[in-house]
Amino acid sequence: MNLSCTFRSLWPRYYIHHSSIPSLITRSSKTNLFIKRTITTKTNEKLAAHAFYDDKIITYANRPIRPVTLSQLVRFGQPPLTKASLRECAQYARTELPVRLARRVRAFQTLPFIVGTNPYIKEIYKLYYESFESLEPFSHDRTPNDDIEYSENLKDLVDRHADNIPTLARGFLECKQYMHAQDVAAFLDDMIHARIGIRLIAEQMIALVRQEQTGDTTDNSYIGIIDTQLNPAQLVKQCSDFVAELCEFNYGASPETIMDGHTDATFTYIPVHLEYILTELLKNAQRATVEFAKKRGLSQPPPIQITISHGQEDISIRIRDQGGGVAEDDLNQVFEYSYTTVAKASEDEDPSNIFTGIAEMAMQSGIGGPLAGLGFGLPLARMYARYFGGSFTLVSMNGYGCDVFLKLKHIDQSMAELEI
Ligand code: ADP
Ligand code: MG
Repeated sequence: MNLSCTFRSLWPRYYIHHSSIPSLITRSSKTNLFIKRTITTKTNEKLAAHAFYDDKIITYANRPIRPVTLSQLVRFGQPPLTKASLRECAQYARTELPVRLARRVRAFQTLPFIVGTNPYIKEIYKLYYESFESLEPFSHDRTPNDDIEYSENLKDLVDRHADNIPTLARGFLECKQYMHAQDVAAFLDDMIHARIGIRLIAEQMIALVRQEQTGDTTDNSYIGIIDTQLNPAQLVKQCSDFVAELCEFNYGASPETIMDGHTDATFTYIPVHLEYILTELLKNAQRATVEFAKKRGLSQPPPIQITISHGQEDISIRIRDQGGGVAEDDLNQVFEYSYTTVAKASEDEDPSNIFTGIAEMAMQSGIGGPLAGLGFGLPLARMYARYFGGSFTLVSMNGYGCDVFLKLKHIDQSMAELEI
């Protein structure tokens, strides 16, 4: 074996960390210089690129946010979609998103250094940084027909950021000892609130470009991502079927869902938001119901009752479960980020029971989507409900079950001036 060759192939890697090592290896000083130069140039290029974008990020982050009102967002997509309204929406998204992304990057940079080195947190920081880099050029270079390319970039943004929240949740859980809980909560409130706005703008633009491309007017209850005829009962059914599958997977059983009230009601809302809220609430209700039924030795978990009412200004949804309610001591904590009773429940059980471990792993690892365990469901569902002026109330009948009241305003004229 040619030893010097083996060393040579290893050398550049070591050189970066231990600059004394190359002197032990016989090689011509010319090669040495060449490799050294290449490494230095590459590193310098990288540093220069970073410094370039760091400066840009500061410039952009210092610009004020220009909120878009809900009525503007709706107007962008009002049928029939015209080139002018698409251009208006694109113009807004192209200049506004880099500012909002830069502000997110800056927010990460204010975290304590050690928190920023956590791999989960670093991953999301990098994502925001890269998204800024990829979208920033669109804010000033505009060719007549690059809306499609721009929309592809936005789709990439939305896809790549899909798992931000659970990733951040894991990161902050690992950094518990380095930050006060209220500082973490303030960071997350701000981050998640901003994220909802960024996604709304990006998704509205994506939807409008899609509409323009396909000329699709068949589903005309939609204005971009806003559905003017959203039927909550239908969405409840869809979400409870999905959650029941997760529940079956985790426990081998799931409660039935009974729906009553104004099941034919429709209203104007953003389906993805309601879907998110309902999924989180149903996961909680189904988990509590099955665990409590198991504790009481019931052969069948009792049903979950969902009542919908259609008021003048809002839609109310009540989710009533018989899952034993929330313990008095836990009531003021359940809305805190990362608060969960998943670990507690398995501590109570026999640790030799292998199924407890498997269930917990499945619940947290996301096999088929996590059922519980991150402690982000309630705070996030409440934030989504409040985003458009709605309310969220949890009432616990300790020892019996929970009622969660969700009141969502119709996204209509009365909310026109709401800023995103
Ligand atoms: P996770 O579901 O990941 O634990 P959540 O924020 O969704 O986090 O809920 C926090 C905690 O609140 C749960 O762990 C559970 O103890 C309690 N909880 C939420 N909803 C209910 C409910 N319907 N019945 C009983 N306990 C609930
Ligand atoms: Mg939950």
